[in-house]
Amino acid sequence: MSAAPAISAVRGLEIKDALANVYNKIAIAKSMSSHQNLKPCLVAVSKFKPVTDIAAAYEANQKDFGENYVNEILEKAPILPADIRWHFIGHLQSNKAKTLAAIPNLYALHTLTSIKLATALNKARSPHSPLNVLLQVNTSGESSKAGLSPLTTLDYESSASSASPPSESEGLVTVARHVLTDCPNLYLMGLMTIGSLDNSLNTDVDNPDFQSLLHTRGILEEVLTREFPPLSSSHRWGNEHGRLVLSMGMSSDFEAAIRAGSGIVRVGTSIFGERQK
Ligand SMILES: *Cc1c(COP(=O)(O)O)cnc(C)c1O
Repeated sequence: MSAAPAISAVRGLEIKDALANVYNKIAIAKSMSSHQNLKPCLVAVSKFKPVTDIAAAYEANQKDFGENYVNEILEKAPILPADIRWHFIGHLQSNKAKTLAAIPNLYALHTLTSIKLATALNKARSPHSPLNVLLQVNTSGESSKAGLSPLTTLDYESSASSASPPSESEGLVTVARHVLTDCPNLYLMGLMTIGSLDNSLNTDVDNPDFQSLLHTRGILEEVLTREFPPLSSSHRWGNEHGRLVLSMGMSSDFEAAIRAGSGIVRVGTSIFGERQK
């Protein structure tokens, strides 16, 4: 393995400054939120950016990085420090799950949307190195975005009252149950959403996509608390406070997301600059 190319000093400083600036904004947003026991995690989204950029951020103490493409993370992960926590935030086909989950320091997958994908990921991991997963929710309902439908109180009542829901209906609750019942090598960390750009740019009102994810979390936590209660062996979900973690907020809206109670923000452009498309 050849040594990674040297980081240019100017680029290194640029990334270090940008990171400090984002952390600063997160601290301010957190101080304005009612969620004081949150320790928001910043995932630096490095898709399309060279490994030298990632190494520069790592030297500035950044440990969590996000990637969207299997081929790209497969190239980058082996030549970067092993204590990086990789977050996969892109669309994943089940046939690539095994290769992806084999990356030892893959920390979390934010884009779980099906039973099939959960089963494939579970097979590629062991109980000694479980993979954190977040269910992706399509809060904006845009057809261009992936994700399971958000929950409303009505959905919850109908799923609780029907004795045997049709097996082909893969709602959020069904996929969550599958993870906790049949996937001992996965840990259900929380919920993720992207949301619509229009909603993220309109800062006059509470972002309805963030509100939808919060509402969905409340309902899902009720179901899981009943079916997979704390201290039971199937209690493989949530953080140390018993809450599902929310992954929401990107460069355009991470401060609003933190104020709304986000636990993980995924920020690329504000750290590494515009991406070459
Ligand atoms: C690219 C990407 C991000 C980062 O977006 P920026 O606007 O550059 O901060 C966050 N989340 C997901 C799912 C992405 O694909």
